[in-house]
Amino acid sequence: MYEELVKTLRSDCMLYLFADKLVATHFETAANAIEDLKKQLDRYDDYIKLNGEVIERLTKKVKELKGNEGIDMEVTDKEATEICKDALYHYGISNQTSKAIEEMSELTKEICKWKEGADNKAQIIEEMTDVYIMLKQMVIYFDCLTEIYQMRNKKLKRLKTRIFEEENP
Ligand SMILES: [Mg+2]
Repeated sequence: MYEELVKTLRSDCMLYLFADKLVATHFETAANAIEDLKKQLDRYDDYIKLNGEVIERLTKKVKELKGNEGIDMEVTDKEATEICKDALYHYGISNQTSKAIEEMSELTKEICKWKEGADNKAQIIEEMTDVYIMLKQMVIYFDCLTEIYQMRNKKLKRLKTRIFEEENP
């Protein structure tokens, strides 16, 4: 996976500089390397604007490679919450609500394609995951997990009643 990541970085002009860094420092895992690269990126003014995009691309690549090697990292619910809190702190709620809107529209797009007959289950799953992660961040920000469970119960009961009434007119 490490070699694969270096190869990917080299093939991408924007990420080329970081491939050497990765080789020079001999990280044990690509995940460690990504963590360090994030810190390195923060130090390069020229790259500040590209930070988000670079990190996103690197993270995506690591995810892909991990998938390929079948060594996907297990993330507990508690860790997921911590990661979402970190994301909120790191990017801020304004950026994250924009990201939520973006992910919801990506999911909308994939659902529309599926309705038109596309074979895009994998893309739908990916976008549902993105939306799930963004919603989780919003739940944390608005501190509303209890309210959501209460509302979920209410709405599901209403749905159950509606189905019963429609099936038994
Ligand atoms: Mg997405």
